[in-house]
Amino acid sequence: TSAVDLAKSLLHRLRRYEPQLSSFLYVSPDDIVLKQAEELDNRIKNNEEVGPLAGVFVGVKDNICTRDMPSTAGSRILENYRPPFDATAVRKLREMGAIVVGKTNMDEFGMGSTTEGSAYQVTANPWDLSRVPGGSSGGSAAAVSARQCMVALGSDTGGSVRQPASFCGVVGLKPTYGRVSRYGLVAYASSLDVIGCFGSSVADAGILLNAISGFDNFDATSSKQEVPDYASQFVPLDYMESKPLKGLRVGVIHETLGNGVDSEVVSSVRSAVSHLEELGCTVSEVSLPSFSLGLPAYYILASSESSSNLSRYDGVRYGNQVFGEELKSLYGDSRAEGLGSEVKMRILMGTYALSAGYYDAYYKRAQQVRTIIRNSFKDALDKNDILISPAAPSVAYKIGEKKNDPLAMYAGDIMTVNVNLAGLPALVLPCGFDGGSAGMPVGIQMIGAAFDEQHNLSRDVRSP
Ligand code: GLN
Repeated sequence: TSAVDLAKSLLHRLRRYEPQLSSFLYVSPDDIVLKQAEELDNRIKNNEEVGPLAGVFVGVKDNICTRDMPSTAGSRILENYRPPFDATAVRKLREMGAIVVGKTNMDEFGMGSTTEGSAYQVTANPWDLSRVPGGSSGGSAAAVSARQCMVALGSDTGGSVRQPASFCGVVGLKPTYGRVSRYGLVAYASSLDVIGCFGSSVADAGILLNAISGFDNFDATSSKQEVPDYASQFVPLDYMESKPLKGLRVGVIHETLGNGVDSEVVSSVRSAVSHLEELGCTVSEVSLPSFSLGLPAYYILASSESSSNLSRYDGVRYGNQVFGEELKSLYGDSRAEGLGSEVKMRILMGTYALSAGYYDAYYKRAQQVRTIIRNSFKDALDKNDILISPAAPSVAYKIGEKKNDPLAMYAGDIMTVNVNLAGLPALVLPCGFDGGSAGMPVGIQMIGAAFDEQHNLSRDVRSP
């Protein structure tokens, strides 16, 4: 088949499921997609080289800049914003022949865990349309889960790639902080933000990571550390062969399989762990007593950083503009109208935590907790190659279930936020189903040492 034929059928599928799912905030017009596919076909016909991602349909979270499409970050304040440039990750994907097919729905500025916080639309979970896809990268997760695109980019500040991957039964990868350039990623909390990958297999996530990793002059926090070839690391598991994972040291985080975690989630993760043991892993239980401190520390730090980052939406430089009598009302009215209530609450929490008089009690203490967490993970990862936990304490929520209870919503991020505080890579992949009435996918999280994505990616541990 030709790239054009492939693109036609993929576009058909994307559009067929979009009315039920609303995964996309913007879909590229057919003629533009087909023209790109045609160019690939012509190159192939002329024996010219095409990139390793030639013709691959990629969905891009709407907080990642694309020069030919809107980039709203799920917010009204960026409603008509079209960036004049591509994010580095997007540029790299395009150079490798990938076709960016559209922009996916998300919680406004990445603040949320269900995608209900989008200023535009609610995305449905393809496994059960009455449930959320997770968030904040819920559009990307739903799109890959329904095969509306083959792979997708998301961003992960406190779990926004991993939790929706878990809720939608796909693979989600959060790379090490600095592995992927943040240039062109709309900033939420800069010390935690990272662009991540969605795929329907570990291999796909690895190929995508290959494409987007590496140092970038436009992001001073991107790492110069060499990029291994993640795609060549795969050890295809031969289930007949005995102990293919022999020697891999796996530590199960004790604190993540206790109270407050659904019993179906615990049993799915435990049975995946015993499967790992059968495959030759050395499994032990590790204790991270500081684990539960991550949640309050994360919400203080993320809100603080966001209150500073979001001050740029002043109605002057870009986005929503409400003209008033004076400059002050231009700022105030543009923000009052353009920003949603969750975003405003985070800005208030963040400015409070940073204000003189409260700084020591909140921001500084949260930073100290962050150091404790970082060190405890380092110790545990000196003794283990990967650490294991559920990706979330439950399966996907019903639409509306958590929407008006922000604390319950925040509590659902307990499994993922520590990994961002420590800057580590983590992979989430489906490991079972809630056997109860819900029948929803459960995800397992595998946390690796900094810049050791290979241990997560090299072995596809899904059941055959
Ligand atoms: N749910 C978390 C938050 O609202 C994580 C979001 C994210 O990773 N972008 O902050």
